[in-house]
Amino acid sequence: MALEPCKVCGTLNSSEEEICLSCGYPTKGRKRPMIFQLAAIILVLTFAIPLIMTLINLIQTQSKPQPASSTQLLTESGFKQLAHLSSNCHI
Ligand SMILES: [Zn+2]
Repeated sequence: MALEPCKVCGTLNSSEEEICLSCGYPTKGRKRPMIFQLAAIILVLTFAIPLIMTLINLIQTQSKPQPASSTQLLTESGFKQLAHLSSNCHI
């Protein structure tokens, strides 16, 4: 029976103990506590969610360019504006 210092709090625990008696950190098996894995997942999601939202907005704006003005283009005045814009684009 040997005493091993806890990696987290430094308390000497028996090598037969599976968890630290002082802080509850597992001395055997998992090297990192669950909270670090959870924090890593949250950190990834924090960066991933805005990136995904930006991509979704980008796809939606490309597939449906200005849905409000597209109905106006169906009118006669709107069609003239479209022809005017397209003629400018060719120059
Ligand atoms: Zn400990």
